[in-house]
Amino acid sequence: DANLFEGDILIPKGRNALIDRRYRWKFPIPYILGDDLDLNAKGCVHQAFEMYRLKSCVDFKPYEGEKTYIKFEKRGGCFSSVGDQQTGQILSLGPGCDHKAVVEHELLHALGFYHEQSRMDRNDYVNIWLDQVTPGLQHNFNKYNDDFITDQNTAYDYESVMHYRPFSFNKNESIPTITTKIPEFYNIIGQYLDFSKMDTLRLNRMYNCCMYMLSHWASISQLYSCIYLNLTAIGLCKKHSYVHTSPLILIQLARSPCWISVPLSMQAFVG
Ligand SMILES: [Zn+2]
Repeated sequence: DANLFEGDILIPKGRNALIDRRYRWKFPIPYILGDDLDLNAKGCVHQAFEMYRLKSCVDFKPYEGEKTYIKFEKRGGCFSSVGDQQTGQILSLGPGCDHKAVVEHELLHALGFYHEQSRMDRNDYVNIWLDQVTPGLQHNFNKYNDDFITDQNTAYDYESVMHYRPFSFNKNESIPTITTKIPEFYNIIGQYLDFSKMDTLRLNRMYNCCMYMLSHWASISQLYSCIYLNLTAIGLCKKHSYVHTSPLILIQLARSPCWISVPLSMQAFVG
């Protein structure tokens, strides 16, 4: 059911949840898995954590009494607050929310992101048919000003895991509420398989994660076949601050303020 993560934002307590740095998390983010969560939902949370670790510098750790944290609970639906509310917050994974990409989507809200079609420039890319929206639910198609959310200087992304699908909140089951200005993307919007490339780019820009594709990437991939195929070197933009859990070493790139972690076996490729 693709309706699962629509209309899923709790009202933020303050404005500028996305731009305002007070709503940004420090890593690792403490988390609690509620006892009421389905086993599958718990599994999906850990799958989503692994995707965040693989594709960004966002990391999570079990709760140990911190003031701010995310508690995953089974409530009615899938929903989250936007940004770190500084008080501990609920991320609900209700019945049917046990999909990796649903957890990724809700965690992107928790990390400070709104839906893709909330962007100021969305009308250049999609048509929103408000007269086809179920009365009372039009607020789900609000746009937000540039002083409230930032697109991190990235283009509109039809492939974002934060984009609604065509029939979101429709009152007539055969008539869409969103169509794309470029017809080829009509069947793309609303995907919930995984992050898009742009989703992770924005996440990494917002949280100051540094990503470096190693310069001999193609040859490394060929040499090590699938072992390192998905490896990207990611570290926080602070010296000495990032330690990977795998047996990796830290290398400071020339003229870069960032340390990156690289498997020992790849040292030879880092110039
Ligand atoms: Zn959402």
